[in-house]
Amino acid sequence: MAGKSLLRPDLIVAGPVSELSFEWLKQRHVAGLILDLDDTLLALGEQIVNTKVMDWVARARLEFNLWIVSNNPNRPFIESIALSLSLPYVNRAAKPSRRALRRVLEEMQLLPEQVAIVGDRLLTDVLAGNRLGLVTVLVEPPGPSRILRGRLLRAVERLVFPDVLIRPTGNPSVGRS
Ligand SMILES: [Mg+2]
Repeated sequence: MAGKSLLRPDLIVAGPVSELSFEWLKQRHVAGLILDLDDTLLALGEQIVNTKVMDWVARARLEFNLWIVSNNPNRPFIESIALSLSLPYVNRAAKPSRRALRRVLEEMQLLPEQVAIVGDRLLTDVLAGNRLGLVTVLVEPPGPSRILRGRLLRAVERLVFPDVLIRPTGNPSVGRS
């Protein structure tokens, strides 16, 4: 892994997951997406996935094998969200541990380089993905987090890793349209 920081995403999307370009993923030969839940598909404190994200998932499922992998231990909550999106899920995943991700790769029957992990956190989603050799995509939350934790965690990451967040690896970020 020399030369590549484990905290450096392959793509930083300047917006929420609903602005992640399928083209970019297909150019990378990505066939599966591992989606974080809190502050990726759903702003912290929200109970329902917004329409834009719903629509994006509906389009994404036609192109990619989708799984939700969340560190959140609240199983009934994750299950209700996963059901609303008709997606399989893993909760209590303990990212940056690779264990849950390996299990999902097996379910998908895809190689690490064919799968992108999409999340809002460097120290869980991006780190876990890079450790396993996945394509890593950092996104912004789909709305304002009503729970302070989300804002706080990202503020700390920006403070500690400004270099990573300012300069992604060579690939253009997807701008807001
Ligand atoms: Mg998250």
